[in-house]
Amino acid sequence: MGDPSGGQARMISFEEAEERILAYVVPVTGTEVVGLEQAPGRILAEAVVARINVPNHANSAMDGYAVASADLVGTGQVRLRVVFDLAAGGFYSSGPGRGEAVRIMTGAPIPPGADTVVIQEVCRREGEWVEVPCGIPRGEHVRDAGEDMRVGMEVLDAGKRLRPGDIGVLAAQGIDQVTVFRRIRVGLFSTGNEVVEVAGTLRPGQVYDSNRAGLKAALGVMGCAVIDFGIVGDDLAAIESVLQRAAHEVDVIISTGGVSVGDYDLVRTALANKGEIGFWQVAMKPGKPQAYGRLGGAVFFGLPGNPVSGLTVFHLLIRPALFRLMGGRSGSRKRIWATFTGQWTKKHSRKEFLRAILDLTGEGPKVKLTGPQGSGLMTSLARANAFMVLPEGPVTVSSGDRVEVWMMDNE
Ligand code: AMP
Ligand code: MG
Repeated sequence: MGDPSGGQARMISFEEAEERILAYVVPVTGTEVVGLEQAPGRILAEAVVARINVPNHANSAMDGYAVASADLVGTGQVRLRVVFDLAAGGFYSSGPGRGEAVRIMTGAPIPPGADTVVIQEVCRREGEWVEVPCGIPRGEHVRDAGEDMRVGMEVLDAGKRLRPGDIGVLAAQGIDQVTVFRRIRVGLFSTGNEVVEVAGTLRPGQVYDSNRAGLKAALGVMGCAVIDFGIVGDDLAAIESVLQRAAHEVDVIISTGGVSVGDYDLVRTALANKGEIGFWQVAMKPGKPQAYGRLGGAVFFGLPGNPVSGLTVFHLLIRPALFRLMGGRSGSRKRIWATFTGQWTKKHSRKEFLRAILDLTGEGPKVKLTGPQGSGLMTSLARANAFMVLPEGPVTVSSGDRVEVWMMDNE
């Protein structure tokens, strides 16, 4: 194996990187059955087909009187005899007959003989009689059986990430367990002699390991199982060793740092020695140095060490790939054109992803930058809810220009 290009980096476009990264991953096939409480955020492995009608019976959408619309022809009022008082949870099976009405509350099943509900506000009740206006359309205020879900209908499709509304659908079907794809296992480590554990004290020249913490959070939100391989120094043998250990245990290995061309950037060499390296330079800013490849059965994603670069690459390139690996159906990126406020000039030839704040206002989408855009400025990422995307080549944008914006919460 090793480095097929003999060490010559070829910078590939963002779009090519996107395609190649997606091509690296094969969706998991393993599944497990979980209860509804464990299901939010998990990815449905099998389509769910309705086994009951919802609503189960035609029922009333309002408080009022259940009547036969045939009794309401013509104009004026009609006097009907109230034969039963039906609350939600009750059931009545013998009427109303012609000239009769059933007092009915929201959610109560429409009794046989009735096809319409007249709301109580337009009726006048007098003892066992009720005066009802004529001309009310047939079926008014009746929720039909199966109006929401009909037996046999596919209500949730495979590959869907389960959200609260989906859990409600399952519960409405009387389904309390669901088959989801197994969690994917992601091995995570940081590299760098200067990088120290967050719990430690910082000596001159050291930095806390913010990358691993941020990535762990991002992976946790996605529903991945994270296996933490800690911090590895800038030492080829140590990096090779952790790569080999991780490859046996996980579906994906993610590292940060050590992928650019500095003297201590050893991750690419280790990957080339122990596995197979794909590509490592992407024409994007931030985040140019990256490393992709395989080790045994695991896919390897090497992120740049600069905290903003690493998380930006994760959001834009890694997360969609992980989602696919998890068995999810990837939707297209959420992007929008917005009116820019500010001033920005880029001279380089890479595609640029600026940390931005998108505001969906009454006058349309507006976007501004979070402030200075240095790749070490973590607060710029923390403040952002979107990336403002500028194309390859020199570009200047000023207030009032229309710019492309990508949402950060893409799946
Ligand atoms: P590298 O990609 O290894 O050359 O690192 C680039 C920059 O990111 C350096 O300033 C590193 O100190 C910093 N860096 C690397 N890894 C981390 C980390 N895990 N947490 C915070 N900063 C880091
Ligand atoms: Mg480093």
